[in-house]
Amino acid sequence: MARYTGPVCRLCRREGVKLYLKGEKCYSAKCVFEHRPEAPGHRARFRRKPTEYGIQLREKQKARRIYGVLERQFRTYYRRATRARGVSGEVLLQLLERRLDNVVYRMGLASSRAEARQLVRHGHFTVNGRRVNIPSFQVREGDEVAVHEKSRNLPRLKELAGLGAQRGVPDWLEVDHEKMKGKVLRLPKREEIDVPVQERLIIEFYSR
Ligand code: SF4
Repeated sequence: MARYTGPVCRLCRREGVKLYLKGEKCYSAKCVFEHRPEAPGHRARFRRKPTEYGIQLREKQKARRIYGVLERQFRTYYRRATRARGVSGEVLLQLLERRLDNVVYRMGLASSRAEARQLVRHGHFTVNGRRVNIPSFQVREGDEVAVHEKSRNLPRLKELAGLGAQRGVPDWLEVDHEKMKGKVLRLPKREEIDVPVQERLIIEFYSR
């Protein structure tokens, strides 16, 4: 499936906020957004005031870019969220947070969701003891996510586990970085999902 392969820092500049798409670089002085935050394109400063539609569209694009999800899949999440019980916007974010690549990132076993996605694709992770190589796999409450035992000695994964232990883990997850495994204690609440997105606007965008 086609995926965005262009310069990702441009996406942060386009959305006007740091999306943390490049792992360690995002936390360093090399972050492009820190010294060039304006929108890309030489006509950016002449753009008119955004319409209501434009604002909703930008929120949707921002969420898609943060989680690295294509439009079709994102729309599927929206449909599932509106059919489920609860506040649709919150359920939508929960569905995105429950993706295996996101959980690996949240556990601190990848420096970005893009890296988590690649590690999952290469079969370095298991869920409840079974190898899963589908980044969009939805984890559930009580699931155990671990680095596959054959991958535990890989230098990059060891390095990531060390970094992850320093970064901290959200309360809805429990992680043992030494053993390179963790557990989903419960689903995240809205206030525990630290993405700069107004989910209500995304719901409004699709329900137009
Ligand atoms: Fe965005 Fe900065 Fe990370 Fe580039 S380095 S992806 S601009 S946060």
